[in-house]
Formats: sequence, C-alpha cells, structure tokens
Amino acid sequence: MLYASAIEWSTDKHAPGRIKHPGAALLWRAGMMREGSLLPFGQLLADRCREVFARHDSAEASLAQLGLGSCLVKNEGVFWHAAAGDVELAFCRECRWGGQADWVVGLAQTGDCSLPGPVQEVYTPGAHSIDLLREALGVEAEMVLKAMVYAWERNGQVEPIMALVLGDHTVNERRLAAALGSGTVRRATAEQVEIWTGFQPGFVGPVGQHRIMLIADLSVMQAKNLVVGANKPDYHLVNVVPGRDFLPALIAPLAKVRSGDLCPACGSALSFGPGTMVFGHQDPHWPGLLMTLALQRAHQHLAGGRTRLAPWPVVWPVDVSITLLGNEGHEIGRELGGRLSSQGMIVLLDDRPLRPGPKFADRELLGAPIQVTVGRGWADGLLEILDPVGELREVPAKDAGEEISVLWQVKITR
Ligand SMILES: [Zn+2]
Repeated sequence: MLYASAIEWSTDKHAPGRIKHPGAALLWRAGMMREGSLLPFGQLLADRCREVFARHDSAEASLAQLGLGSCLVKNEGVFWHAAAGDVELAFCRECRWGGQADWVVGLAQTGDCSLPGPVQEVYTPGAHSIDLLREALGVEAEMVLKAMVYAWERNGQVEPIMALVLGDHTVNERRLAAALGSGTVRRATAEQVEIWTGFQPGFVGPVGQHRIMLIADLSVMQAKNLVVGANKPDYHLVNVVPGRDFLPALIAPLAKVRSGDLCPACGSALSFGPGTMVFGHQDPHWPGLLMTLALQRAHQHLAGGRTRLAPWPVVWPVDVSITLLGNEGHEIGRELGGRLSSQGMIVLLDDRPLRPGPKFADRELLGAPIQVTVGRGWADGLLEILDPVGELREVPAKDAGEEISVLWQVKITR
C-alpha cells in the first residue's frame, strides 16, 4: 500500500502555458510527469503499460490493447495521430506508413519524362528564382532543378556542397547532414556561392560543375528534361537529364516531404497532421505514450452527478485510492487498504493532512478507477465508494472490502 504522505507528490491547478499538449498538461497537473521525466505516479503508470507490453508479442498488439490501435503510423518509430500532438506527421491513410514530417521521405511526383532532347542553353534574364523562371519559361516548378549551395564544415575545414532537389521541394537539412555523415552543414552565403562557383546564386547548376561535390535527392534521378542553372549569369539549360548530363557524387533522400508527395510504401497521397511518438525503435517512448493515454482522459465527462475528468482508458497508476478526511478513519483506511493490497490491487491511502477540497482534486487528477472516501458517513460506520463507471454508493465499512473485490474482479481486472 502506498501512503500519499510518504510520496513526493505535488499537483498543480494549471500546467505552464508553454505545454500545449492536453495530455502532457494533464500529466503535469497530476504530478506524474515534469519536463519529460516520470515522477512516482508516472512510473506506476509506465509499469502498468510494461505489463501490457510483456503480454504481447508485438509493439503494435500492445498499443492496440492500450487503445492506441486505430491511428498509428509507423516508420522509424510508431506515432499516434490525433488533433493534439507535439510533432508534425506525414503519413499515409491507406497503409499507415509515416513519421515525423521533418524526417520521413515521400515519393516526389516528377513532371515531363518524355524522350529527352539535347541540352540547350536559354537566355533567362533576371530569372534567379524558381518563380521567375517558371514565368520566363512557362514550366512547372517540378521541372526546375533547385541547386542549393551549402558550406560543409568538418575537422575545421569548410567545403562547398551542391544539394539538388526538384524545384517544388526544399532541402531537408537534417537529411543532408545525415547523408554526409559527419560535420555540420549551413546554407552558403551569397559571397561564398560567388567565390566557389564564380556566379551569382540563381544561375548555378550541376552541369560541368567540377569544383563542388554534388549530392542529389532520389527523386531528381527519376526526373528528365529539367531546367538547371547554366553557371552563367542570366542563362539556364533545358532538357537536362540527371545521370546523362551530370553525375552526383552522392544520391540520398534529401527533399523535405510536402503535400502532393506519395507514400513510398503503397503510392497513395500522403496526409499531414499533428501526432505524438508512442514507441521508438525498440522500446516505448514513455513521455509520448503516457501523454497520448492521458489525452484520452483530458476531456470531461459526467460521472457521479458531476462533470469530471474522463477515466483512464486501459491502464492507470493505482487501482484504488482511499481518501481520509479529518483525523478519524486512519485505522479503517489502513485495514481496508491492506486487505485490498493483499488481493493484488495497488492502493493509495491519502493520509495527508490537507483540506478535503485539494484531496478530492488530486484524487480526480490521479484517476484511480475505484475511489473510497472515509468522511462524513464515517460517524455512522459508512464509507463512500465511487466505482469505475462513476456511480457513488455508501456502504458499511465492514462490507467495503467485499464490495470493492467484486468491483475489481468484474469491472477492472485486465
Ligand atoms: Zn501507403
């Protein structure tokens, strides 16, 4: 049995404003998690989840058991998609492939892939941006090759890199750094571009580029007939075919995923929305998993004749909380708690010397499915029991243990 007076437990009326995720805010208020670290009651909740993971062969089966089966997306972690989340997801509604939008790679749709013609130089005065170029040549953005020059810094040396993505995409700098494997990458300044290429940004391109290492996005290599900078002010090249007219030193997923990209697993259109990571590569992602479980109870529902927090969906930190009001009832509280504990229930005895209001508020935040009050009726030998569906009943103290055992077996044994 746990004694509230012996646990470091502090609840809050409000979570700090910077915490936007309703589940995270609830865990904060309940004194279960602070800044991503689990406090004692958060640990108990995690232990309950661990029991579920231990009973199933796969993370997905366990998450389904925890009520998180229907909105999961998977790729480099498992994410729960909901109206509230702490990361932006890109995911496929058809096959549930997906992940963090700043990391996953979609399939870009390429434009005109007809039989390529010979490379031609065209005069494009002042067309130093994709938009100006589209206007000047009447081409779609995906037909333009975006050549971004980066400064790659490692071992105290700075080397120029040219990252190539299709014109309707941008470079994912995390991906670029990962593809290079070491050091840091930063967008080159206009001065650096001029020094390294001899030309202004906007007209640099990969064809005939021998001084700068080229690194191309996967989708670039699928494209044909691209428009690229001619490495000559006010000129571009058309009909450029990657692989034929230039050869990158490295081909890697580089483009930031965007709407219009397709699922690499099944080819359906990708969707975007908020979500939370609930499982990492090997283990549950505890803050995210508990936040997501808490999210399910962050809304209000009607129980016991008043509006309350919704109950925990599948797991909860303690099974029974016994709240002592006033100085009497300690003995019956301990006796009842001991009896229930011996049956395998996790029991919290709130023996703190606090006023009833804060004790009830804390009890509701913690959310045990069976909540016992030793209070007003105690003078007549009665205890109050709030059951898992929010029904309130008064029972003689001598019957309380039996009553709770039945509730436990029928309603909450998992
Ligand atoms: Zn898919």
